[in-house]
Amino acid sequence: MHEYDILIIGGGPSGLSTALHLAREFPELTPRILILEKAHYPRPKLCAGGLVIDAEIILQRLGLNVNEVTHVDADRIHFDFEAKGLNIRIPKRHALRIIRRDEFDNWLASKAENRGIEIREGVTVKRITPLQDSVSVETDQETFRARAVVGADGSNGVTRRYIFPDAPVHTARVLEIITPVIAREGSDRSNPPAHKKFASKKNTPRNDSQREGAYFDFSPVANNIAGYVWDFPTQVNGEAMRCWGIYDTNILANEKRPPLKEPLSKEMSRLGYNLEQYEIKGYPIRWFSPDNQMSVPRVLFVGDAAGADPFLGEGISIALGYGLLAAREIGKAFQRNEFSFNDYRRRVLKSALGQVLLARWILAYLIYPLKWRWFQMLIWRFLKPLVIVVAWIFVLNWGKRMPSTL
Ligand SMILES: Cc1cc2nc3c(=O)[nH]c(=O)nc-3n(C[C@H](O)[C@H](O)[C@H](O)COP(=O)(O)OP(=O)(O)OC[C@H]3O[C@@H](n4cnc5c(N)ncnc54)[C@H](O)[C@@H]3O)c2cc1C
Repeated sequence: MHEYDILIIGGGPSGLSTALHLAREFPELTPRILILEKAHYPRPKLCAGGLVIDAEIILQRLGLNVNEVTHVDADRIHFDFEAKGLNIRIPKRHALRIIRRDEFDNWLASKAENRGIEIREGVTVKRITPLQDSVSVETDQETFRARAVVGADGSNGVTRRYIFPDAPVHTARVLEIITPVIAREGSDRSNPPAHKKFASKKNTPRNDSQREGAYFDFSPVANNIAGYVWDFPTQVNGEAMRCWGIYDTNILANEKRPPLKEPLSKEMSRLGYNLEQYEIKGYPIRWFSPDNQMSVPRVLFVGDAAGADPFLGEGISIALGYGLLAAREIGKAFQRNEFSFNDYRRRVLKSALGQVLLARWILAYLIYPLKWRWFQMLIWRFLKPLVIVVAWIFVLNWGKRMPSTL
């Protein structure tokens, strides 16, 4: 039996952010933290890798420079309905940064290790049992005891299954495809040249002519798919690629819906791509609902295990934000020697992160059920000022309002 003070189950952005914030704010706890990660870095993670400004703000405040990770910047975000709509730019900076998750998580894990945080890779947690004054964590290799445990094991995590076996689960369906860039004459969208090589040298600024947009098209809503098709520029091993996908919150699951890949296939073929030629992968996203439970004595949840953004399925910045709040809760618990964590959910809901999650939950239930074509067209094509204000307040820009010190 190995004893640790703080065991973090899962080494994705939420688990690593929790550990990094603990190390920054409560350095005395650093040697008492252990992260258990079932995979080995750089491990694959199905994700489009869109980093909003808030993720960058949180990382910057941790003293981390995300420019070190190979990336592609989209200079504008398009919100479309049937290929027409509005676009959003952020003055003097990119609107969305796109990273690959194997590279990003590997980078973040190496930063955590450099700061003295122990990570054990290749260890799968099998069972979690809260006891009177500790938590027992059984893995495929050995059993650990911890005074506090963080469930950071994602949408399908084992921690939640053991702690809240009967709690309602809200999950979105998501499919993703990576394709090379096909050069098209006179296509509807401006394209970078085919097979352009991105500077895989990290940190190389790209000029404006190399920038391009990230597209969200909400046409599937009219067919009871409560979400959108996306198309982002990305890179794999320095080669320019496109990342496509479809997101469905499942809010309209009771209605008649076409197979999820149908609207994705339609959008891809409009732009000259044949979906059948590429590998398609799927993974759920567990989303935030105000009734989601987030802790029991000695165990608290972060990231997808607590709940990602229901409206767009955005979860990387959210995971980093949960990490900050969880670190504060754990640090204070050790100072007081009191591990009920009974105020954690209230504090999450009161924070800038919680308010944004709540707003996006309301937006999801407001916008997706109003699925008439004319209404969706009205929002995405004609209400630009309103959409920009809502996006600025509720989608972007909450990171600055998070506490910078705990
Ligand atoms: C197709 C798709 C596209 C997406 N695109 C975007 C996007 O563009 N932008 C964005 O912001 N978000 C996106 N998301 C959401 C984003 O990927 C998640 O919200 C984010 O990864 C959550 O981070 P996390 O740390 O909570 O969980 P994860 O990243 O899932 O990390 C959990 C970690 O726990 C480990 N683990 C799991 N079980 C165990 C166990 N039993 N024992 C030990 N370790 C375990 C896993 O190996 C993993 O490393 C997308 C998701 C999907 C599915």
